[in-house]
Amino acid sequence: MDEANRTEIASLGEFGLIEHLTKNNETRQAGTILSIGDDAAVIDQFGRQCVISNDLLIEGIHFDLMYTPLKHLGYKAVAVNLSDIYAMMATPTHITLGLGVSSKFPVEALEEFYEGVYAACEKYNVDLIGGDTSSSRKGFIISVTAIGEVAPDKYVTRTGAQVNDLICVSGNLGAAYLGLQLLEREKKIYLENPKVQPDLQSQKYLVSRILKPEPRADIVEWLQEHGVMPTAMIDISDGLSSELLHICNGSNVGCIVHEDKIPIHADAKAMAMEFGVGSAACALSGGEDYELLFTIKQEDYEKIVRNKDISIVGYITEKSEGAHLLTNGGNKHKLTAQGWNAFI
Ligand code: ADP
Ligand code: MG
Repeated sequence: MDEANRTEIASLGEFGLIEHLTKNNETRQAGTILSIGDDAAVIDQFGRQCVISNDLLIEGIHFDLMYTPLKHLGYKAVAVNLSDIYAMMATPTHITLGLGVSSKFPVEALEEFYEGVYAACEKYNVDLIGGDTSSSRKGFIISVTAIGEVAPDKYVTRTGAQVNDLICVSGNLGAAYLGLQLLEREKKIYLENPKVQPDLQSQKYLVSRILKPEPRADIVEWLQEHGVMPTAMIDISDGLSSELLHICNGSNVGCIVHEDKIPIHADAKAMAMEFGVGSAACALSGGEDYELLFTIKQEDYEKIVRNKDISIVGYITEKSEGAHLLTNGGNKHKLTAQGWNAFI
């Protein structure tokens, strides 16, 4: 490496870095059906299709042990990985779990972490089948690989959205981000005055959204049962804007999203008000909701409206029209990805 030609990672950002490092990646196996670029990869195994995804959770970057109970962390580490498998319209079956652990942890702490891991495995019917364990100089590092299955060619990528498709979102958005802001605020108050114990009882919903997310297995099941095959799908880990742009870029289309159609929980609206931020901005740029964002053909509209936990937030346009938000005030804003960037 020539120091004079040094490129800062921050100049590329997370997605730019992945693109840069993998643009010349070659696949050699006939069984590699879908490689880098989606929520998960798809490989063919003697006619059966297997879906694989990996995610890292790093102390100080993805979680703060001051307000994250270890049991919840174990649960979340599994849940967020399963979310990527569901985002392919696949069913998770197995996970492996890699851990980097510093000596500040007693065995009891790791037992607690594993209680959460096992609880998520039980709830989502997956088996923990291996992993790796190492010491870590500083901080707790968690790497989960999730494996799932899907009927041949029934997986859904980010790249299939078509002009005039409807854009759908499960559940509600922005609550996890506001839960995190609340925990950060209480942490600061506590550090300044340890005698003040945070009272989070009244904000159970927001706190649970950030500490114990649930992947939307139920939505995938419902879509399968009702014969709705989305044209594109992604899970919302980085905020609605960022994920919409992934679908638009991947599918070579544009989109219009209506601010007033974005589903936001009443508790999230109230907390956004308290923080003096727009609740739609929290939904668009907050992240960590682990809801599903997907597009459907217009002919599936009648079916989709029957599910009260799915909101139609907009529609797909020609690429030349760009990706925009129509605000409540009638203004058109270009969508930008402010998804979280660990390299800044
Ligand atoms: P998600 O947010 O759904 O977890 P990411 O944005 O992390 O997805 O990753 C996007 C794509 O890039 C995925 O296909 C992922 O497997 C791939 N990817 C991420 N990091 C690397 C890496 N270091 N080497 C190869 N592929 C990677
Ligand atoms: Mg994903």
